[in-house]
Amino acid sequence: MSKKHYLITGGAGFIGNHVIRYLLKNKEVRVTCIDNFDTFYSREIKLQNISDLQESPDFKLVENDLDELNPSILKKIINEPIDIIIHLAAKAGVRPSIQDPKSYIKTNITATQNLLDFAVQKNVSKFIFASSSSVYGNNKNLPWNEHEILYPISPYAATKLAGEAFGHVYNNLYHLPFIALRLFTVYGPCMRPDLAIYQFTKSILEATPITIFGDGNSSRDYTYIKDIVKGIVKAAEIDVQYEIINLGNSQTVLLKDLIANIEKVTNKKALIKWRPMQPGDVTYTYADIRKAEWLLDYHPETNIEEGLLEVYQWFKKHEELLLAH
Ligand code: NAD
Repeated sequence: MSKKHYLITGGAGFIGNHVIRYLLKNKEVRVTCIDNFDTFYSREIKLQNISDLQESPDFKLVENDLDELNPSILKKIINEPIDIIIHLAAKAGVRPSIQDPKSYIKTNITATQNLLDFAVQKNVSKFIFASSSSVYGNNKNLPWNEHEILYPISPYAATKLAGEAFGHVYNNLYHLPFIALRLFTVYGPCMRPDLAIYQFTKSILEATPITIFGDGNSSRDYTYIKDIVKGIVKAAEIDVQYEIINLGNSQTVLLKDLIANIEKVTNKKALIKWRPMQPGDVTYTYADIRKAEWLLDYHPETNIEEGLLEVYQWFKKHEELLLAH
């Protein structure tokens, strides 16, 4: 029997490389990864993310820009059956999306729609889409369940909501099984350099000031990468037609407590510059994860102290590379 073939887009990125490593533990799986090593952050970090994967005979890297690939070009590049697509490639980050919404629309909506066409042509059994907690905006009805009214407040959030909607369209028109996973602030080793936990850990280690937007009382539902990966992989396996599912930790952490925790883990004091809250940033996120518990048997296990320690240890291991970025 041939191995199950996954196409993972954005596989050289933070979440992608962890998903691929987890999938390849199963010897009956092979993975094709499409990534364009976009310039949002360093190519070196992404190459480091996948350095061990490149040694596996079940891993294939296709360096290509999804923005430039219509379904017929994609068919030429991947001229073999695909079982499951996990679409993680995106322009991420709320603040840069306000500066350049068009490029977010191109990658997160147009390229997603192209990939959906390709998925239909390939007759894949599942399309997983990485959506985001940002679609909830500043909805006050906490914790958020998947039926809440959505109030996106950034172009990034709007593109993620559009991706969910296109998934619904393709499920309705072509019966493409589609799951949108609303991911809540993911962190852990290999995390993106723009993410707060990376920035804060780096600044504390370098004894440079941290810029805090707001008064420290904003909060996030931080979700550890290993927990997210299990949820993503399980979603790829279940038999459903169209679902939207939150993947969070369902525990909120105040920004000021997050910093205190990083200080504890690194045993160093933070230098803080206070600035006003930024437009587009939400004040809080908080996931109701009952649907994930029920559908995916998803039970996040890593608390913030354990997760931050893992991030710190990763920093120490790759200090030269990470402190340079
Ligand atoms: P990341 O930037 O580390 O990974 C995304 C990868 O996609 C990168 O390697 C990048 O090079 C690639 N990419 C971007 N544009 C591409 C294109 N046009 N063609 C091919 N490849 C392209 O980000 P991440 O944190 O791993 O996020 C993965 C997904 O999860 C994204 O869709 C993101 O929106 C979503 N998400 C992440 C978080 C989080 O906290 N990290 C939260 C919610 C949703």
